[in-house]
Amino acid sequence: MSVRVLSLLFATLSLPLSAIAQTAPSPLPATRDLTQDAGFKAQKAAIDAAAAQMPNTGRAKNVILFIGDGMGINSVTAGRIMAGQVRGQDGASYVLSFEALPYTAFSKTFSANNLVTDSANGISAITTGVKTINGAIGVNADVKSKSCDGVEAARVMTIAEQAKLSGRSAGAVTTSGITDATPVGTYGHTSTRNWRSDADLPPEAVAAGCTDLARQLVQAPAALRLDVAMGGDLEDFLPVTAGGVRKDGRDLTAEWKAQKNAAVLTGKAQLEALNTKTAGPVLGLFSKGDLPSPLDKPQDVPGLDEMTAKAIDLLSRNDKGYFLLVESASIDKWHHKNDAHRALHDVDELAKAVSIALAKTDPSDTLILITADHSHGLTLSGYAPRDGRIDGVSGQGDKAYPLLSYATGPGGEHPHTGGYTAEETEALGFTNPALFGMSSAAHGGEDVPVYARGPQAYLVRSTVDSTYLYQVMARALFGAETPKTKP
Ligand SMILES: [Zn+2]
Repeated sequence: MSVRVLSLLFATLSLPLSAIAQTAPSPLPATRDLTQDAGFKAQKAAIDAAAAQMPNTGRAKNVILFIGDGMGINSVTAGRIMAGQVRGQDGASYVLSFEALPYTAFSKTFSANNLVTDSANGISAITTGVKTINGAIGVNADVKSKSCDGVEAARVMTIAEQAKLSGRSAGAVTTSGITDATPVGTYGHTSTRNWRSDADLPPEAVAAGCTDLARQLVQAPAALRLDVAMGGDLEDFLPVTAGGVRKDGRDLTAEWKAQKNAAVLTGKAQLEALNTKTAGPVLGLFSKGDLPSPLDKPQDVPGLDEMTAKAIDLLSRNDKGYFLLVESASIDKWHHKNDAHRALHDVDELAKAVSIALAKTDPSDTLILITADHSHGLTLSGYAPRDGRIDGVSGQGDKAYPLLSYATGPGGEHPHTGGYTAEETEALGFTNPALFGMSSAAHGGEDVPVYARGPQAYLVRSTVDSTYLYQVMARALFGAETPKTKP
């Protein structure tokens, strides 16, 4: 402090008290009373509800794991806005079903060998508790990509298999093919996710004893086999002679039907007609490959919510409980094409399926987790008005650009710096721009959100590794001891 400042301070302190008292106290500025403000009141109610929330430290009979494939925080925010707007509501303040759950965390998704994971390691880490290399599922990191060598030695159990061994039932439901990476995370063990039918397996892999994923699903030992599996990929289960791609002549749908009371469903009407009180194991293969977007022309294909409802009805017949994986796969498929509109619509499809599960289960005995296997390079950027469409533009004239763009992907193959119109960007099928042109967008590597409700859900907090989510599910199903990872 300088001598000058010190002497000023001294002068002030040595003023007589009467001189200070002569300065009239300035009145406090008037402010708005917020006690009747709707937004303020809503948040007060929210914090009261949060404060009243007691953690459920008990065991879970059932666990339902929802995966929004490729659903980073960017997809949740943009998906929420779109979901609100298509309902004629304020998109920004809309709440997706899973966003209302009491517990959240961030999950780190990297794989054993890559900073950014693919969906194979992405799901395998969550369902087995250990990371593996990109492309591998149901094995630890001691495998070589595209090689059968060491796969059996690297095999680890999935939470679905562990649930089966505990006497529970297990199932997987997806809008992708049932032999695609995420659903395989319940039943498959492979170094190479692309080995979906025998036509994909190289002869060396066959000679070394590896089998394709469709066969792994159908031919798993009864004690481990899924009770319900629904999605697409009919072609991987049928021989070439019956319209499939199998070269070994096997009809795996017939092999599935050999189980007592088993059903193979190929259309929405068949699923609707299924008697869930009496049906045995159910294999639903509703499309040759992945299921189409609900935004495209209606086909004989059930929605994710309908498949989820039927799966819960079927699995909940087991008094000991169940494990169910539900995947909204097409968020990722459409992001790869830089088709933000269809991708975000599938965030809403996921939220609808979660609503069904929340309504059909008891929070005291069912742990529900919602997360993503990885993110995508989507960004939501630009000062569009509060009521502006999420798939619209920000800025004007030759400076107008879409609010939604990507880091990589097909949208970068034809560079276009500005002058987009709302008619163009809001049209279904628009390819959102990307910084770097690629035929298929790369995944995003930032942490993804986790949402939870039910027994042990309170342990979903902080920034965790994706493999921690396995521990949460195992603790809920089997208790606090180290989970048994060998039969
Ligand atoms: Zn992907």
